[in-house]
Amino acid sequence: MCCESGIMPCGGDGTEVSGGRWSIPRLRKNMLRAAAFTLIFALTNASLALLFPFGLSRFLLCFVLYATGTIFMLYLLFHPRNQWLVANRSRVNCAGRPCVALTFDDGPTAHHTPRLLEILREKKVKATFFVVGRRAESQVELVRRLHAEGHLIANHTYSHPSLFCFLTPRRLCQEIERGQEVIRGICGVRPRYFRSPVGLRHPLLNFYLQQVGLEYISWRVRAFDTLVQKPQVVMNRILHQVAPGDIILLHDNSSAGVGIMLGVLPQVIDELKDRGFDFVLV
Ligand SMILES: [Zn+2]
Repeated sequence: MCCESGIMPCGGDGTEVSGGRWSIPRLRKNMLRAAAFTLIFALTNASLALLFPFGLSRFLLCFVLYATGTIFMLYLLFHPRNQWLVANRSRVNCAGRPCVALTFDDGPTAHHTPRLLEILREKKVKATFFVVGRRAESQVELVRRLHAEGHLIANHTYSHPSLFCFLTPRRLCQEIERGQEVIRGICGVRPRYFRSPVGLRHPLLNFYLQQVGLEYISWRVRAFDTLVQKPQVVMNRILHQVAPGDIILLHDNSSAGVGIMLGVLPQVIDELKDRGFDFVLV
């Protein structure tokens, strides 16, 4: 298994993948980008050596180099639609029709997911759920219900590590593989889509996603719905930004803000339907 042997190539079931998504040029490209990122990280930190012996001009040069390197690395790791470290998609294509895709991260939770499912059923809307493997294990019936009601279940790692971009290669692979296996064990199918915690990147993420055959799904609209805000603010964040083809990021974890978002979700869906939008899976 790739998770047991560092960064050896492996398929979703632990066997080697031949041809198709796994190829030498892709491997080379992924590894070169991971190496380039590691080099930027090393050079940024090495620039601190310029502080000695200390002098004003050396301090200013060091400051400029360190700040530039740090900002560039943060951009690569945090920007949700940056393609450099991880190829990703933030839109859906509906062949000319206006459509949007609702996506819900971090669930399932007994606290909010059942209410969300009731809203979606009442409004006849299907959505994509990026579930956390560990939570899925504790809410098996809820995951089966998601699947049975026609929603799409995708991988949001096994334990949702907050320091995702600093995971060791072995742990990164385990987070992806265990997330896949938990969902396969409950629903009988392995997910095809992945989103990392908070959209964080990792230099080796592209490498592993291609091995397992997962596509990274980002977003174009987010409501910051885990924060406690006025309902009107949540609604406006979505309705003022949304455009045809957008993927919308929402959550069904147990935070208080999600309860507020669920309070306005029926109105948001109605308004988008009035504007002519269809709701599709990613
Ligand atoms: Zn998350």
